[in-house]
Amino acid sequence: MIFETNMGIAIKTLEGNYILKNFSAFNLNKINENSTSLNVSFLNNKILSLKIKCIFCENTHYYKYSIGELIRKDMIIGGCDMLGLPILYIGNCKIIENEILKHNKVNTRIYAMI
Ligand SMILES: [Zn+2]
Repeated sequence: MIFETNMGIAIKTLEGNYILKNFSAFNLNKINENSTSLNVSFLNNKILSLKIKCIFCENTHYYKYSIGELIRKDMIIGGCDMLGLPILYIGNCKIIENEILKHNKVNTRIYAMI
């Protein structure tokens, strides 16, 4: 299945902000090269497999999503198994961008108050 190129993946950083990366079936290797905490692979052209080093519990968490599911749901949130906190957004790039802008603003405000 060919999926849209306006897909994105956002992971939470140690600073508490989310970093958004565009991804497609064609640039997964580049994402993996540029990231130490995230590894993405594509199974049988329809399952996206993610491996993420968690900033909360420091374990590695594994997620598998079907591309069909990602397209249908617009956005999926992946959480830390241990603490139930969100560490990952995946799906439509625009929707994720709006979502993490809210989070990043909140974080900036918190830092500013300190
Ligand atoms: Zn965790």
